[in-house]
Amino acid sequence: SLAVFGSTNMDLVATVPTAPALGETVTGREFRTVPGGKGANQAVAAARAGSAVHMIGAVGEDEFAARLRATLGEAGVSTDGLRTAPGFHSGTAHITVDGKGANSIIVIPGANGTLKGIGAGDEDRIAHSDALLLQLETPMEGVVAAALAAHARGVRTVLTPAPTQPLPPELLAATDLLVPNEHEAADLSGRADPYEAAVALLDLVPEVVVTLGARGSVYAARGAEPLTVPAFPVRAVDTTAAGDTFVGALCTAYAEGRPMPEAMAWASAASALAVQRPGASSSMPERAEITAYAEQ
Ligand code: ADP
Repeated sequence: SLAVFGSTNMDLVATVPTAPALGETVTGREFRTVPGGKGANQAVAAARAGSAVHMIGAVGEDEFAARLRATLGEAGVSTDGLRTAPGFHSGTAHITVDGKGANSIIVIPGANGTLKGIGAGDEDRIAHSDALLLQLETPMEGVVAAALAAHARGVRTVLTPAPTQPLPPELLAATDLLVPNEHEAADLSGRADPYEAAVALLDLVPEVVVTLGARGSVYAARGAEPLTVPAFPVRAVDTTAAGDTFVGALCTAYAEGRPMPEAMAWASAASALAVQRPGASSSMPERAEITAYAEQ
């Protein structure tokens, strides 16, 4: 089973022909609300891929909370570790998408900002898991506390270093697998080439998987030659949460004892299926579908 420590957000998406300038009002085309947050997305991806998943996070005291809980629950994620932060709003992302597909985003952490540590129940959730999945959309001190709790109990930690920020040494010391996309890998390593970045990051953590969008992913581990796993050639219509789908499926396969290159190929199949459909967590594939696609 897996534990996920991280964010839960409601994305509020406005589609407009042209984004408003400061002080201007425009009439938009469409509005939709989409449950998201990297933590919740990874939890849903892993559950759909077949893992038993415990989500550790926080929602607010607002009308979004019930839907955020329901989205996790419908995917089969346990929400016992999802607390309600009194007096807070649920995390929101206010997204404006213009006619050319370019977006601007305001993120308000709300309840996610209260995740500054872990509770006693969370220690048990983590201790009984095969791996703990972490991202950086919640306060760093809470991420560090969760990582240390896992590391102390020999539970594998998998860190998605997004959004990019400096990683404290105590977090790196407690990270077993780092899964940046190519931009995050470049930021963290100072190297533009993803292969060089993956190898350079081995100075910080024992294993690295760098995702390269349609160009696949690169695996590097100490004492082994780096290797590349191709993406599936597909027509992508919505790449939102491609990386979260990949991580959820990757950890599911890896926790089952499958070797990393095989786990990466299976995760590539999961994300290839997801990018061919619109939506974030709603587009994530189920286990049987992933396996059938991976073996085609
Ligand atoms: P992120 O969403 O974090 O930026 P990536 O864009 O690197 O992550 O995508 C993660 C993985 O999803 C890739 O390694 C690849 O397997 C798959 N993927 C992403 N975009 C595509 C695409 N256009 N076609 C096929 N697979 C894709």
